[in-house]
Amino acid sequence: MPPTRKLQWIELSQKALHNNIQSLTTLAPDKLFAVCVKANAYGHGITETVKILLENHRVNYLTVHSMREAIKCRRAGWRKQILLLGPVELCDSDAVLEFDVEPIVFNREFLENIGKRADKFNRTVKTHLKLETGTNRQGITEKDIEKFAVVYKKYKSLQKPYAASTHFANIEDTTNHEYAEYQLSQFHKLLDVMTAHNIKPEIRHTASSAATILFGKTHFEMVRPGISIYGYWPSKETYLSHKLEGGTNNLFEPVLTWKSRITQIKNLETDSFISYGCTYQTTTKSKIGIIPVGYYDGYDRSISNKGYVLVNGKRAPIRGRICMNLMMVDISDIPKVTLENEVTLIGSEKNEIISANKIADWSGTINYEILARLSGEIYREIVL
Ligand SMILES: *Cc1c(COP(=O)(O)O)cnc(C)c1O
Repeated sequence: MPPTRKLQWIELSQKALHNNIQSLTTLAPDKLFAVCVKANAYGHGITETVKILLENHRVNYLTVHSMREAIKCRRAGWRKQILLLGPVELCDSDAVLEFDVEPIVFNREFLENIGKRADKFNRTVKTHLKLETGTNRQGITEKDIEKFAVVYKKYKSLQKPYAASTHFANIEDTTNHEYAEYQLSQFHKLLDVMTAHNIKPEIRHTASSAATILFGKTHFEMVRPGISIYGYWPSKETYLSHKLEGGTNNLFEPVLTWKSRITQIKNLETDSFISYGCTYQTTTKSKIGIIPVGYYDGYDRSISNKGYVLVNGKRAPIRGRICMNLMMVDISDIPKVTLENEVTLIGSEKNEIISANKIADWSGTINYEILARLSGEIYREIVL
């Protein structure tokens, strides 16, 4: 096959990923360290990300949302532990055993089922019991603990949970951490109930990125950050809270760069319309670059006529509606733009930076969503 160039591609910086892990493990020394690779590794590409993580000996665990993601991690060569954060269907109990995955548990039916299957195959299973402390998502309440304890004792493969965990609802959205304190006190209370029922776990974990960065007392035996691994702060509030406590500002660097090329250059007369709906009309003679990236790829349509991309280190504003696979940018004032000129959608050129935060501001969402929605179809390449 002849060599083909990609119309668009994502570059992953290994150096940045290792550096971010270094920063986080410095904040949580001596703790087990789990890296969250759900949502296609926050849009970075799960297979490529796992390949980089194979080289990092500080990482003990990968956390995923689904059994399908767990299998992708195994296929990418991951031999160490995998924690499955999301639900597992009852029919997938055997897959949990086959791929040696540690499930989060919050349904008694599932616990019964996995206990039964594991007993049958003479296996043991490490389960992580999810405790409800106030997020009211997945998790079991105080009155459920006794019933779960009964199931644990019933199966030789189980006996007791390997871990107890919970998840905070309101750390990254505010600089007021009263609710997080409340959840932490609930967690301690439920741990006591577990101990009273003779199912004291070996490890405990509660900390996503914001908790890992801000609260040492949430680290317990393991931390499980996501967004910060990829070089982003969970929110402005987390950054602010960290700064107010005298923290340094350069803990993380973004791992991902998203690039494409200009595939046609067009000179338009004054008063020309651009793209669907004729929402943009030129007021002078204009030079337009066509870029083969659209909302199918994860570039949100709400950014039509709002954002910009970088061309030769300068801002090229988006003109007209973003289409399914294409967008148009104004390059009238940017010198020396040529056909197949590189453009940067996320990343930096010269003194300009477009971060996922900036795109999130343009489209009224958070950096997590911008990254997670990058299409899995985009070609990914690992760079130094
Ligand atoms: C996604 C997730 C994390 C990681 O959260 P970040 O804010 O990205 O660090 C941790 N724990 C659970 C249960 C999650 O769902």
